[in-house]
Amino acid sequence: MQKKVKGLNAEWHRQHKMPKNPTVQQRIGWHLAHLENCGCRPGLPGKLKEQMKKLKIKIPAGI
Ligand SMILES: [Zn+2]
Repeated sequence: MQKKVKGLNAEWHRQHKMPKNPTVQQRIGWHLAHLENCGCRPGLPGKLKEQMKKLKIKIPAGI
């Protein structure tokens, strides 16, 4: 059984393509915006959270 993709915001994805070689900041910004606008995948990648901690960027609660 395939899991249903819940809350995919295809329109947002069309308008917010990840740059080809994103900087860490671009990736973090993209994922934070993505969390707010689309539910196609839960939370943030673990590595990104580590980088955010290093950069002292606040990680949203509950993810
Ligand atoms: Zn999405």
